[in-house]
Amino acid sequence: MSFVSPRDGHPRVTWSPSLTLVPTHHCFNACGYCSFRQPPPASRLAAGATPADALSDAAASHLLRQRPEAREVLLLSGEEVPGSPGRLAWFERLLRLSRLALAHGRLPHTNAGPLSLREMAALGRLNPSMGLMLEGLGPAYDELHRRAPSKRLEVRLGQLEQAGRLGIPFTTGLLLGVGESRADRRDALELLALLQDRWGHLQEVILQPWRPDGLAPRPLERAEQHDLLNTIAEARAILPAEVHLQLPPNLWPVECLVDALEAGIDDLGGIDTGDVINPAYPQPSLQSLAQRLAAGGWELRPRLCVHEAWVPRLPGPLRRAAAAAARLLASEHTFELREP
Ligand code: SF4
Repeated sequence: MSFVSPRDGHPRVTWSPSLTLVPTHHCFNACGYCSFRQPPPASRLAAGATPADALSDAAASHLLRQRPEAREVLLLSGEEVPGSPGRLAWFERLLRLSRLALAHGRLPHTNAGPLSLREMAALGRLNPSMGLMLEGLGPAYDELHRRAPSKRLEVRLGQLEQAGRLGIPFTTGLLLGVGESRADRRDALELLALLQDRWGHLQEVILQPWRPDGLAPRPLERAEQHDLLNTIAEARAILPAEVHLQLPPNLWPVECLVDALEAGIDDLGGIDTGDVINPAYPQPSLQSLAQRLAAGGWELRPRLCVHEAWVPRLPGPLRRAAAAAARLLASEHTFELREP
């Protein structure tokens, strides 16, 4: 794979070659905007049996072999009720898939909802980075999360605090455009800045525009883009400089992506061949993305799921796994210097 790169000295925006594995779509929450979730079958809740859609090791290995260049394996799971009969099997599957990813020379990044201290610590020994969206705060989120107990603000903040105490490089983010006010957004960003000040573990904050589901994508209108550009600039001003600001490129008109970068975005996140959360919004091709960005004076650079500055904090085995993955990443992605 080769990408066009502008001249040295131009600003960089990063992305992570990624494969998403879904341990299960079953989720006990019911967020108002979610099209990913399948309700847990009543019989399984009673018996604690393995869900019918549980991703097997064989199926996961097959998917890993199909995407050899994906250095990041995003484990994106529906959630199991804490303390329920099925929780242990659900959690052990996350551990198994994390080990499997490492065995294939990939770096797992788990985002599976709130975890107990023991669960997060165990996954933190296998995942160089993990994630959990803060989502946001205020009445609009309260309404959307009426039937999602794990999305309560105090639960999310407790998780971000716990990850900080454990020293896990962490990704969080805000879902934007669900009816929240500018003040709600600012309050959420200030909470994240306080957490970063205390623990220094937030490697990136995703500023994710909410987009409606459906068969066809509904691109952001110009007024919506302006509103979000203001929030990106505000986030850049509020959050410490080491926290990367991430925007999923499939949720923003690619021809206006440079506007978002100039406002403060410096990362495009993990890019898979599709988006399991927003399936109606296809990923732009990397070649076209790189060319557009080069024309705007930006260099597109691949990265690992754990950003470089956080690697020295990892435990020894994960540091070595990250170093090996970085060598492969460098050999897999060659850059051609061309005039934009
Ligand atoms: S927690 Fe995640 S998977 Fe579950 S309903 Fe909410 S958005 Fe969907």
